[in-house]
Amino acid sequence: MKNIKDYKLEDLKNELKEIGEKPFRAEQIFKWIYDEKVESFDQMTNLSLELREKLKNNYTICNFNILKKQESKDGTIKYLFDVLDGNAIETVLMRYHHGNSICVSSQIGCKMGCKFCASTGIDFIRNLSGGEIIEQIIKVEQDIKEKISNVVFMGIGEPLDNYENVVNAIRIINHPKGLNIGARHISISTSGLVPKIYKLAEENIQCTLSISLHATNNKKRSIMMPVNEVYPIEQLIIACKDYIKATNRRISFEYALAKDNNDNLEDAKELVKLLRGMICHVNLIPINKIENGKFDKSTNENIIKFRDYLNAHGIVATIRRELGSDIDAACRSIKKKKFA
Ligand code: SAH
Repeated sequence: MKNIKDYKLEDLKNELKEIGEKPFRAEQIFKWIYDEKVESFDQMTNLSLELREKLKNNYTICNFNILKKQESKDGTIKYLFDVLDGNAIETVLMRYHHGNSICVSSQIGCKMGCKFCASTGIDFIRNLSGGEIIEQIIKVEQDIKEKISNVVFMGIGEPLDNYENVVNAIRIINHPKGLNIGARHISISTSGLVPKIYKLAEENIQCTLSISLHATNNKKRSIMMPVNEVYPIEQLIIACKDYIKATNRRISFEYALAKDNNDNLEDAKELVKLLRGMICHVNLIPINKIENGKFDKSTNENIIKFRDYLNAHGIVATIRRELGSDIDAACRSIKKKKFA
């Protein structure tokens, strides 16, 4: 059966037309799903019984179950969701003074194999559909009884490796009759799939693009991120410059600092050279050591020196606050678990 949350409003209108229904019914259904967050077609009381039956026979509403919920002392909540096929994924809610931010997963498992990431070493199972990405937000909003204001695609998976579904989800998240979250409050993070960066530039979505850079030369980057063998740094940086030109949007570069690996002033110097002249922001992440991982967190002193060097040389850089580290939510163990 088809998941009704996979449909954009226009597409649902067309589906309904095909079964002889008026298109405005799609707007009513959207209201029930995204405003009221109902879990069954029976609750859609302004639809005729006949239409509710038709909907039940053709679609599911896709209600994830919460298998586990861990709450950090800083307010961060990590959810383990049952995605209804024997697999589970993690979603993290972070609370900032400017609002509630959610970190969603885009795939069950990941193919990228980044050496420092907790999703590596677990098999790739499948892409999440647009509706399954959206369901993570709906369930969390329902659970905390508050609105989510920011969405980041930084959970399990490589969003640009699940391009169509992620873009579809963003359109519904962003739609005033969908979840109504402004595109500027949505970030996609990628390990650097160059052709997809060009494709995204043409979508006319005002979301933020984050690039997981983590190193300034091919030798170091390929050791950390195998994807660099396919799309080396030079190609990635050109794609970023072209993206900025095409969209007029600032890019955010993520740089996870690992002790004695990519955290000394020579690296900072190379980074300044690499990014000079680009409209960008650097997000420094103290790397979280994963089980059996070979990358250790930099010292606070080095992280601050690194940031200060960038700022002194014209690159805006901030250090990401580590939220939820006591519940392993800080990029350490966001991973899928198979429980069936
Ligand atoms: N696949 C996407 C999105 C998922 S990861 C990507 O690669 O961008 C989200 C961010 O967390 C990426 O910048 C990733 O490199 C970073 N990350 C993953 N594991 C980490 C760890 N152990 N410590 C710090 N950052 C990590």
